[in-house]
Amino acid sequence: MQVQVISPGIYTYGAMVVGGILKEAGHIVTLHRELVSRPGDAVFLSLFSTQHLIDEKIRSFITDAQKTGKRCYIGGPVSAAPDMVLGELSPDAVVVGEGEGVVLPLLLNGPEGIPGTAYRKNGKIVRIPRDPPGTISRPLPLIPDDIASQDIRGANVYIETHRGCLGACTFCQVPRFFGRSIRSRDIGEILEEVRAFHHKGARRISVSGGTGSLYQYRNGKMDPDAFINLLSGLAGIMGSRNVSAPDIRVDCISDEILYAIKRYTIGWVFFGIESGSDRILAQMGKGVTTAQVADAIASCRQHGLAVAGSFIVGYPTETEDDYDLTKEFIAGHPLDDIFVSVAEPIPSTPLASLTIGIPKEKNPLYISHTGEYRPLGLTEAEARFFDLTLHAAMCRTRPVIIAGQSYDAYLGEARKQGRDIRAVTELLYKYYRE
Ligand code: SF4
Repeated sequence: MQVQVISPGIYTYGAMVVGGILKEAGHIVTLHRELVSRPGDAVFLSLFSTQHLIDEKIRSFITDAQKTGKRCYIGGPVSAAPDMVLGELSPDAVVVGEGEGVVLPLLLNGPEGIPGTAYRKNGKIVRIPRDPPGTISRPLPLIPDDIASQDIRGANVYIETHRGCLGACTFCQVPRFFGRSIRSRDIGEILEEVRAFHHKGARRISVSGGTGSLYQYRNGKMDPDAFINLLSGLAGIMGSRNVSAPDIRVDCISDEILYAIKRYTIGWVFFGIESGSDRILAQMGKGVTTAQVADAIASCRQHGLAVAGSFIVGYPTETEDDYDLTKEFIAGHPLDDIFVSVAEPIPSTPLASLTIGIPKEKNPLYISHTGEYRPLGLTEAEARFFDLTLHAAMCRTRPVIIAGQSYDAYLGEARKQGRDIRAVTELLYKYYRE
C-alpha cells in the first residue's frame, strides 16, 4: 500500500519509527513534516501536542484526505485522550499508546477489534485495550534526507534508548504513556540506528528526554556502566562534541555518570527543577527537594558541566510565596540556561484532574494579575512567566538584560502560553468535567 506518515512541524522520532515499520513490511512510505497531500491509501498522523487537536489546518487536512478515500489514523502523545482526538479531529481510528504492534494490522484490516485502538462504531466510541507492552526491538526508522536541517534544542534528532520513567511527576505524560518500569533497547540496535542517522547526514544527536541514566535500570538498580558504554558508543560514531544526553533526574546522578557526560558529550546537563518551593515540588510528585537539586547542581559544577534548568509557573496551587521561593532559588543557584513554562494540564495526567477540579476564579491561568504588570493586562500565570523570564535572564551565569525587541518577544510568549494553555484547559472542561 501507499502510506503517508506526517508529524506536523518536526520529524518526530515516533513518526520515523512508524515509517520504518511500514517500509520494512513492504509498503511505499513517505514521511513529511508538512501537511502535504499525496496519492495513497492511508495517512498516519503523529501528533505530540494537545494544540494539534484544535488546529483548524489539521482538521481540514483530515477531512479532505478522507473525502479522497484515504483512511486517516492518529497516534502519538495525544492518543492518551482518544475520545478528545476522535471528537475534535474525526480520524478513522486512534492508535492508543505505543504504536509498533498496532500500525500494520490497522493498515491491513482497519481498526475493528485491533488491540490498542479507539474508533467510532454506530456513533459510539469503541476502545480495544492494549496488549501488554512487548519488545521494543524494531526495524531501522525511516530517516528523511533532510534530517540535518532539523534543530530540536540543538540536536537533529532525539533517539530512544529506553522507555518508562520511575518518576511520577503530576504534569508529565511519560509514566502514563510508557509506564513506570524501565524497558531498555539493545545497545547494538541503538548504535546501528545512530550510524544510520549519521549516514543520512545528522550532525548532532541527543538521547531522548526523561532520564538517560536509567538506561538498563533493572531489579531496582541503576546500571551506570551500561549508560557509560552507551555514551561512549554514541561518541565513537558521532564524536563527543555531537552527542548530548542532558535530561536527567537530580536523584539519578553519580560521580561516574557525570564524569561520562563530561567526557563523551557536549557537557550539558538539564534538570527539570520546576519550583523553588518544597511544598509545590511535593504536590507535583517530583520526589526530590530543593536541597537535592542544589546538591546536584554543585556536583555538576565540580565536574565542569554546564547546567540548564526548567521551571514551571502557574501550577494551580502555587501561591505568591511559592513563586517568591522559585525566584530566590534561581538567584541563589546561577544556571547557564533557564527555561520557563506555564503549567500545562496535559490530558491523562494528574495535573489535568487537579485543574478540572479547581474553579477558574482560583486558577492562576484565569485570575487577572493585579501587581506590577497590571497595565499589561496579563493573567497571574502569564505575569509569573514574564517576571520569571526577566528575573532568570538577570540571574544566569552570564546575565542578559532583556529590553527592546527581546522584552516584547517574552511578553508575546507569556500571552501565547496563557492563551494556548487556556485552550487546552477548555478542552478538558468540554470532555471531562461532569
Ligand atoms: S522525572 Fe521527568 S520523565 Fe520522569 S515523570 Fe518526572 S518529568 Fe516525567
